[in-house]
Amino acid sequence: MIEKRDFYINGKWVAPATPRDHQVIDPSTEEPCAIISLGSQADTDAAVAAAKAALPGWMATPPAERIALVEKLIEVYKSRAEDLAQAMSSEMGAPIDLSRSAQVGAGIGHLKNFVRAAKSFEFDRPLGDHAPNDRIIYEAVGVAALITPWNWPMNQVTLKVGAAAIAGCTMVLKPSEESPLNAMIFAELMDEAGFPAGVFNLVNGDGAGVGSQLSSHKDVDMVSFTGSTRAGKLISVAAADTLKKVHLELGGKGANVIFEDADDSAVKRGVMHMMNNSGQSCNAPSRMLVQSSVYDKAVETAAAVAAKVAVGNAHEEGRHIGPVVNAVQFEKIQGLIQKGIDEGARLVAGGPGRPEGFNRGFFVRPTVFADVTPDMTIANEEIFGPVLSIMKFETEEEAIQIANDTPYGLTNYVQTQDGAKANRMARVLRSGMVEMNGQPRGAGAPFGGMKMSGNGREGGVFGIEDFLEVKAVSGWTPETQAAE
Ligand code: NAD
Repeated sequence: MIEKRDFYINGKWVAPATPRDHQVIDPSTEEPCAIISLGSQADTDAAVAAAKAALPGWMATPPAERIALVEKLIEVYKSRAEDLAQAMSSEMGAPIDLSRSAQVGAGIGHLKNFVRAAKSFEFDRPLGDHAPNDRIIYEAVGVAALITPWNWPMNQVTLKVGAAAIAGCTMVLKPSEESPLNAMIFAELMDEAGFPAGVFNLVNGDGAGVGSQLSSHKDVDMVSFTGSTRAGKLISVAAADTLKKVHLELGGKGANVIFEDADDSAVKRGVMHMMNNSGQSCNAPSRMLVQSSVYDKAVETAAAVAAKVAVGNAHEEGRHIGPVVNAVQFEKIQGLIQKGIDEGARLVAGGPGRPEGFNRGFFVRPTVFADVTPDMTIANEEIFGPVLSIMKFETEEEAIQIANDTPYGLTNYVQTQDGAKANRMARVLRSGMVEMNGQPRGAGAPFGGMKMSGNGREGGVFGIEDFLEVKAVSGWTPETQAAE
């Protein structure tokens, strides 16, 4: 059993002020795989104090030096890739092949994109030729609290830490208590890369404890949060008294609009995307909207594809999906599958209970419902499991209406071979991202939502800008700057 009770504060691993053990459960076995400690106010205060003390030095460090440290981080990250992958598979149940590829790989990609964006970013520049004595200076927001979820853990940690470090913020990371092990390895990497003491700190804890202590802390200037809309609201309230900047990346209920002229693999692609990471992605295309003329065929294909999705232990290699993260999520998903049946949706694949051959582990059957209508619970609630809802539409207008009829606005998807129609859809769908015809977003594209999906943008230059304040200076002496 792994025992890792210490926190990383001011460049050292330190024991919690008051030990409070917490078991990390392996969702494939339901057995504990590690013991950590949950922090208390004294630990939060110590980490914030370290970040505050390190701030003046770090913000004054030339961007090129900060970028060089992130480049070093990429190297040490690669050297521990297997440890990170094993940790994620144990604590949150991503199958080891997915952990090694997408889960670990996302971190390297984000860090590289930050480096690329930062190298051409002008942290300090003139306003324009019309105002030669005006200077625009981008400077760090200050001490940032980074609160991350368990579903794509390294993806989220690197999106926040990489951007904050390049922007010149100092930080306190509180990873999800469900998946702290990968984040603790990451803290070792920050140490090895040589970030100055206090720039990066890690305190484990739960939402009610360290999470809310950070959100309401007077010396924290910004909270960058990824997780549920529920917690996002609580954090916004907790942060209100100190008026800190709150950056939110929350849930989603993405529509995948399949027109009758979609390419042949559109339905299969949509189902596989939904099932990836056992449906635990905020940008999952969980509502498949299909045009009536191709509806029956799409339902048949979706059912057949889902029936072939294998489910298996996260520690085994292969292309199966793993368990969902914990007992609470398992029960929630089971309840929503039952609700789909009770409210009259047509079950065409999967269903309640564990897949055949499993009597332990939080494994869910890859499930597809057809004939889902907008009033049903499964059309509205984020299920966060391998459950797809298929809905029918007649016209483009109706597809837009159904797609936008959700409080969320993270990613929508469009499948049509008519370029003009695709572009029209991209303009009217109310979401931070629109992905069309299976084309992934390019490196450094911003990730984030609108409406109840949040307000932040992560990745590339957009992610760095979220950790920066814009300062306008007049009366600037240009020659001084040139002489430096
Ligand atoms: P969660 O909100 O319960 O927990 C996320 C993090 O917030 C954890 O570290 C947790 O300890 C902390 N937290 C919980 N309550 C808090 C509070 N009151 N104050 C401060 N911190 C608190 O969510 P989860 O179950 O870990 O993650 C799943 C959710 O995250 C899903 O809804 C998913 O859609 C969303 N998500 C969104 C994105 C995105 O970028 N938009 C990415 C991944 C996950």
